[in-house]
Amino acid sequence: MTKIKQGEDFLTKDRDYVWHSMKPYSPDSTLIAEKAEGSWVTDHKGKRYLDGMAGLWCVNVGYGRTELADAAYEQLKQMAYFPLSQSHIPAIKLAEKLNELLGDEYVIFFSNSGSEANETAFKLVRQYHQQKGEYGRYKFISRYRAYHGNSMGSLAATGQAQRKYKYEPLAPGFLHVTPPDLYRGADNKDTEAAELESVKDIDRVMTWELSETIAGVIMEPIITGGGVIVPPDQYMKGVKEVCEKHGALLIADEVICGFGRTGKPFGFMNYGVKPDIITMAKGITSAYLPLSATAVRKDIYEAFKGTEEYDYFRHVNTFGGNPAACALALKNLEIMEKEQLFDRSAELGEYLKQSLAEKLKDHPLVGDVRGKGLLVGIELVSDKDSKEPLRTELVNKVIGGCKEKGLIIGKNGATVAGYNNVLTLSPPLNIEMKDLDFIIQTLTEELKAIL
Ligand code: PLP
Repeated sequence: MTKIKQGEDFLTKDRDYVWHSMKPYSPDSTLIAEKAEGSWVTDHKGKRYLDGMAGLWCVNVGYGRTELADAAYEQLKQMAYFPLSQSHIPAIKLAEKLNELLGDEYVIFFSNSGSEANETAFKLVRQYHQQKGEYGRYKFISRYRAYHGNSMGSLAATGQAQRKYKYEPLAPGFLHVTPPDLYRGADNKDTEAAELESVKDIDRVMTWELSETIAGVIMEPIITGGGVIVPPDQYMKGVKEVCEKHGALLIADEVICGFGRTGKPFGFMNYGVKPDIITMAKGITSAYLPLSATAVRKDIYEAFKGTEEYDYFRHVNTFGGNPAACALALKNLEIMEKEQLFDRSAELGEYLKQSLAEKLKDHPLVGDVRGKGLLVGIELVSDKDSKEPLRTELVNKVIGGCKEKGLIIGKNGATVAGYNNVLTLSPPLNIEMKDLDFIIQTLTEELKAIL
């Protein structure tokens, strides 16, 4: 059998047997990846693609890191599994290392995915309030456009109706507010100040809903999948203050923003704020193995140390904190530090953003280029004055054109009703300069091609 024939066979089998995530049925556009190295993925027919999305915003140290495979292999040989109802050394070491990165005292609960990390946070926040005798605090506030996961609670927190439609009713007790949007928000001279109004909105919602019913707020420091929405610098601090005023806890969803994506170890570190709870996944292992974590401020954890029957956290998952995943995560963080990938993300991200902004400043369909670190969004509009979102077919044409030329980029959709018009970039943090230039050049060409 020739290689090509084998390939055709895989496409058929893929169509017959594999159910793809978040994709309308269209077998012809499927990329069947076979191997990957650095920032490049090769498909089963030998075509190479620069992965401008690092998978799903997650392969932070790039592909082909044999040290990571070795770390997992050694741990699997020594001890493949043990539950965290007891403990094991890789989990202890990783929890210690995460504390070092977080710069404060947090106790870590391990799970397998971002959705689970958020679900864990919701459960323990509700229980925490009850431990303190505040039985009515069950409501969570999150923002429209943000994604927080696929499970009934994390999807309820998600502010993207198109992902929820057909699965409702989801978990009750989740409210949504409008995120600040420095591009589309108030057309005011001082946009930053105007957009800080959205902090007051959260304050008002908490009051109107009754403070004593509010459990917490969950937010990404920068909304990622919902369109790379960078808030005003003071926004997250404002939200934290409002939470404190109403006795609610602040959960930072760092599933994408964490581990260098925004140019700092964690996204919240851009905003001078300390969340009460921090959820993380993806970059924690650079997605080489599944692992996630919910970091909980120490004094919150203390409230679970009572001796009554229901005082402890009745929550378990079989695979969470798997020893091999923890050992791999430790090696992954070691690489990030050794190669200074957090700083590199900040520097290269600025270069990427500035270069695109400069090259596209006169493009009539490019409304905004924004981001922090190697997290960049390009908002496409049909008219720069009205800011009418560009038609999805044209947005898809850019993405398809890039793919033809061997570049994978993303977009925020089909997830945000009416606003599926933001192209997204989130390459590996160790991407080479020439590859970054390839992204800039290819994207610029494909954006010209739709004029
Ligand atoms: N939170 C955010 C911000 C995410 O982007 C995602 C996934 O993309 C999740 C949570 C859910 O993570 P997972 O897909 O690992 O369940």
